[in-house]
Amino acid sequence: MSVSSTPGDCPAPAVTDGLGAVDRPTVSFELYPPRNPHAAPKLWATVQALAEVRPDFVSVTYGASGSTRTTTRTLVRRLLRETSLTPIAHLTCVGTSTQELADTVGEFLDEGVRAFLALRGDPPADGSWQAHPEGLPTASALVGLLRRIEAERCASSPAQAVRATVRPLSVAVAAFPRGNAGAGSSREQDIAALLAKQAAGADFAITQLFYDAPSYLELVALARDAGVTIPIVPGIIPMTDPARLRRVQQLTGVEVPEHVLATLDAFDPETETAARHRAGTRLGVDLVNAVLDGGAPGVHLYTFNNAGPALDLIDGVGLGGSGAPRTRVATLPVPVPTS
Ligand code: FAD
Repeated sequence: MSVSSTPGDCPAPAVTDGLGAVDRPTVSFELYPPRNPHAAPKLWATVQALAEVRPDFVSVTYGASGSTRTTTRTLVRRLLRETSLTPIAHLTCVGTSTQELADTVGEFLDEGVRAFLALRGDPPADGSWQAHPEGLPTASALVGLLRRIEAERCASSPAQAVRATVRPLSVAVAAFPRGNAGAGSSREQDIAALLAKQAAGADFAITQLFYDAPSYLELVALARDAGVTIPIVPGIIPMTDPARLRRVQQLTGVEVPEHVLATLDAFDPETETAARHRAGTRLGVDLVNAVLDGGAPGVHLYTFNNAGPALDLIDGVGLGGSGAPRTRVATLPVPVPTS
């Protein structure tokens, strides 16, 4: 066989945009399955726009108690079949029996899903909630279930075992920069929980949103001191829409700093949305640059199914393919086991 080739046999990339560079920080996005089927075309336009920057993965949320089981599956299946994106399916265990969870995991695996974000999920806040008598209590137990199911499938089928070697199962978990206000837990408690998730087989963590770099950098330093070695990817919300930030504060308990709201509220919401968008993007760019300069492995953006603010932010930090590409500049220390 000849190794020579004529021009055009194997064309070099037309644009050296840096999007596929190995030392590029990771870029990923969170999507949620649309509640209303009529929103599907808009979501799909969002997916196509996000795909342009070749994200490392896109994660798809899952309602507590399995409330979005069908719609999450539909979206994940469509991402697998119709795009080159790697979907990560969120899974929650609150309010569900272990058997129901195992069935759901089996369905995802049968469809070719190889990555999950294992979560506990939040019980309803009205106080009426009781733990499922045959359910799992924590995210770390769900990580263990995922690992057990995968091991059983590989043990029962050599073909599955080979496939699992080629495309290993990847399990992500949540981390909380300032403790989990929604669950009423402190940062120390959540670092202990993160260590338990790692021990159960988690591969990496994605953080709850935060608004200042020290929140993330301190979490990573404390987690490393406690023995957490897995990568911790910062989860960032684009800061362009103050109404959204206020709603997310109510849902998560993560307070929006006064200076962020003051910056955004200074603009007329009817006539100055473009200027407000630019100012909010600047806030996001500064935050993402600070965590990347501090050694974060990449950035995960909470898109709320809206591509524009996420892509402008990614572009602003040099990860969107236009302008000078950004590469990793630092590495947060990871303790080396002594024995
Ligand atoms: P856990 O780690 O199980 O923690 C829950 C509580 O138990 C905490 O108070 C923790 O301190 C305590 N705990 C856990 N393990 C231990 C242990 N070994 N010892 C002592 N205490 C322990 N929710 C959804 O419903 N759907 C989603 O799709 C979704 N996606 C998310 C994505 C990200 C990136 C993040 C950060 C959160 C997401 N959430 C989602 C919210 C999440 O489910 C809640 O914040 C939930 O309260 C905590 O989830 P967890 O996975 O950290 O649970």
